Amino acid sequence: MHRSEITIDLGAVRHNVRRLLAALRGAQVWAVVKADGYGHGAGDIAGAALGAGATALCVATVPEGLALRREFRTERIIVMGPALNREIAQARDAHLELVVSSEEIPSGVRVHLKVDTGMGRWGVSELMTPALEVVGLMSHLATADTDAGYADWQIERFRTATAPYTHLERHIANSAAALRYPAAAFDAARCGIAVLGLSPFGGDPADDGLRPVLRWTSYVALSRLLRPGQSTGYGRRFVAEGDTWIGIVPVGYADGFRRDLTGTTVLVDGEPKRVLGTVSMDALAVELDRAVPEGTPVVLVGTGVLLEEHARVAGTITYELATGIDSSPTRARRVVVDA
Ligand SMILES: *Cc1c(COP(=O)(O)O)cnc(C)c1O
Repeated sequence: MHRSEITIDLGAVRHNVRRLLAALRGAQVWAVVKADGYGHGAGDIAGAALGAGATALCVATVPEGLALRREFRTERIIVMGPALNREIAQARDAHLELVVSSEEIPSGVRVHLKVDTGMGRWGVSELMTPALEVVGLMSHLATADTDAGYADWQIERFRTATAPYTHLERHIANSAAALRYPAAAFDAARCGIAVLGLSPFGGDPADDGLRPVLRWTSYVALSRLLRPGQSTGYGRRFVAEGDTWIGIVPVGYADGFRRDLTGTTVLVDGEPKRVLGTVSMDALAVELDRAVPEGTPVVLVGTGVLLEEHARVAGTITYELATGIDSSPTRARRVVVDA
């Protein structure tokens, strides 16, 4: 047995990419695998996504791009964040493509010029005639998951600004836009969260035909009976009113089960149970209705336990929870299934 086990389902990745391709009706899917594939494992996610028809990989940094290049010798890899001066030569040598947010275009490397249409972050405000190195024009949506009116306005600004350059690849859509805004498709959509089967809208991924890729399980290492007035964990945040059985699970915030997940629900032997008291670095407590044997399985994330629900409890988004999960061998056993 392992303290915790993280299972990555490559069949689900392929299903999600096919779902996105169907929604995009002819536009390409570029798989965004920055931050180690949002904590899911960049190489595994990238390989499965390419196998299902994704035609490029997107990352945030040149080092992320260089690491992927070792595994993917010929595929297109696009670095979406800014490159430092010394990284430009490395990107050129490794045939990475760069995103540039100014009129200063490096030579000898394929460039996507970013136009700011309303995100108010990276990008040029005014699009001049692009230099020869420029192969793509891109922008990024600020509200594809929340404000349709603003997203539509950004998409139309992008269409107008780039209309003279339809010979270049144009891309603005992220996962939310790929699923909900056909007008945002252009030539390609850069999709991260939906490839992982997580809802860009914070709801049930099944509503958009997506299948979660990550499953996270552990076990009850100890059952104990709290008598009235006894408590569990730091700060005594949970004090038993009557006799209360609790189970201690050897996973905590250092593993990525965050401290603000008190009150969320996990499955103990298939039954929904509340997380009680303060989540510690290496352990958490769940409410039980009886003693359970040591080794009783606990599903922290998986069928019946949506990461979206944990995100709602923690007041954050699945992106932040997923990137926080530590699947390194010192903390968890990571299993890749390719069914
Ligand atoms: C991370 C990122 C994406 C992917 O967004 P998802 O919501 O995960 O699909 C797309 N474009 C840019 C520029 C990004 O930084």
